[in-house]
Amino acid sequence: MYDPKSKRAEDFINHEEIMETLDYAQKNKHNRELIDEILNKARLRKGLSHREAAVLLDCDLEDKNQEIYALAEQIKKDFYGNRIVMFAPLYLSNYCVNGCVYCPYHAKNKHIARKKLTQEEIRREVIALQDMGHKRLALETGEDPVNNPIEYVLESIKTIYSIKHKNGAIRRVNVNIAATTVENYRKLKEAGIGTYILFQETYHKESYLKLHPTGPKHDYDYHTEAMDRAMEGGIDDVGCGVLFGLELYRYEFAGLLMHAEHLEAVFGVGPHTISVPRIKRADDIDPGVFDNGIDDDTFAKIVACIRIAVPYTGMILSTRETKACRERVLHLGISQISGGSRTSVGGYDQPERSDECSEQFDVSDQRTLDEVVNWLMGMGYIPSFCTACYREGRTGDRFMSLCKSGQIQNCCLPNALMTLKEYLMDYASPDTKAKGLAMIEQEIENIPKEKVRQIVREHLAEIERGNRDFRF
Ligand code: SF4
Ligand code: SF4
Repeated sequence: MYDPKSKRAEDFINHEEIMETLDYAQKNKHNRELIDEILNKARLRKGLSHREAAVLLDCDLEDKNQEIYALAEQIKKDFYGNRIVMFAPLYLSNYCVNGCVYCPYHAKNKHIARKKLTQEEIRREVIALQDMGHKRLALETGEDPVNNPIEYVLESIKTIYSIKHKNGAIRRVNVNIAATTVENYRKLKEAGIGTYILFQETYHKESYLKLHPTGPKHDYDYHTEAMDRAMEGGIDDVGCGVLFGLELYRYEFAGLLMHAEHLEAVFGVGPHTISVPRIKRADDIDPGVFDNGIDDDTFAKIVACIRIAVPYTGMILSTRETKACRERVLHLGISQISGGSRTSVGGYDQPERSDECSEQFDVSDQRTLDEVVNWLMGMGYIPSFCTACYREGRTGDRFMSLCKSGQIQNCCLPNALMTLKEYLMDYASPDTKAKGLAMIEQEIENIPKEKVRQIVREHLAEIERGNRDFRF
């Protein structure tokens, strides 16, 4: 029986409920009256249930689809303005004992170069990332209790936070590691991580078991219940996601929203972020062998419907997607993107030779961070390097209530402008700098409170004088 309050995976991600939802959505995809009713509810900006959102996803009435896109765009504007938060992944190790059939790090892949960074190598990676201008990282490792035990991850986090190179600093480390114990989650919390990210890959249990034939990740329930353990361990910001292309996207969409409903029902706070990766080509992996690939139109619809269903949840898009695709979905709901990413182990300090290969997937957007920042501003977006909330203790339900009331906006725009200014002063090319300074001058007028505007102006002048790290 579907029960969002249950702690058991099979109850809160209930297969029968998903199948009934898909059936309901299919039957109502032309039901104009119901679709209008759902859209009216969505306009209240309090989100939708998985069933309601599934109807919008299936809707094939052209005029209603245009309304769905317009509403997603409006919600994006209302909650996130024109800001896009920047981050970069950092791969620590690609040793992995699991057998995930869609990932080149799977244990049976004998021709991929296996690498694990030493603390000194991590130092060099972090300096390279700081020199690009990054302030926010997502750590990635394979699952391997011998090569990548929790102690290694904790030591690496400590190393990363300790490095202060020129004006650089990594101010927020998000962590994407395998499902683990409450005790280990507690240790990660104590190490000062931002968000704990874990992709479900697929919510379809039968497919999950086939796609993860060997290794600890084979345990669907343990994996699916990981966010509950993370929350019990004190991590109150968690990031969900599926790998689109493995299973039917409608199924994954419903599962993802049910997971969000479960976290909200049990812990009073839904996921902090949702990521929307699509399966990509990589060493030993041909995306063509997976039957459920989705085209760009479907992808855009998914992004729009997630935005409407969970307006207060950040949405992350990686460099798996091309520039053109990123351009298309940014305004529909994405709030965070990576830039200048390397998905190989040690790839920032030492780009890989063509005969080496430790990448997790091919990067479609190969531009430098400066090019991405410049491109964003050219489209009217403010690239933000803000990490303020977690450092000010605005996490979990405290963050969510500020977010739901819209008050967080009073912090986001000033912080975006100040961190962008830091970036422009320290790392930008002349053209990016000129564009950025003009943008700051223009955007500062959009800060509603005169007092805040005044403080921001003072801080911006301080940044010119070489001081750093101002935040609201
Ligand atoms: S997806 Fe993660 S767990 Fe699976 S093989 Fe790749 S690195 Fe290992
Ligand atoms: S103020 Fe908080 S919510 Fe806004 S961009 Fe910064 S970290 Fe994110």
